Amino acid sequence: MSISADLLSILACPSADHAPLRLETSGGGAEQLVCTFCLSRFPVSDGIAVLLADEAVPGPNGLGNAAGTSAAAGGPATAEGADAG
Ligand SMILES: [Zn+2]
Repeated sequence: MSISADLLSILACPSADHAPLRLETSGGGAEQLVCTFCLSRFPVSDGIAVLLADEAVPGPNGLGNAAGTSAAAGGPATAEGADAG
């Protein structure tokens, strides 16, 4: 099961930013949703998005905080994904 584009369009980050999410697939095939604002990651279990702060992997500056506004040392380089649609 995969999350549909229609569903994805109405989902938002559960943190204060309420930013749109994008769907990413890891190398192992597991899907996750990534906040476009804070870059926090949320698991997808059997096609169900788990949008819980407790289950999230916080972004580089924490859940709900904009990513990329300050330099973070020691992290791997990140690639910007292309916008779809
Ligand atoms: Zn967010």
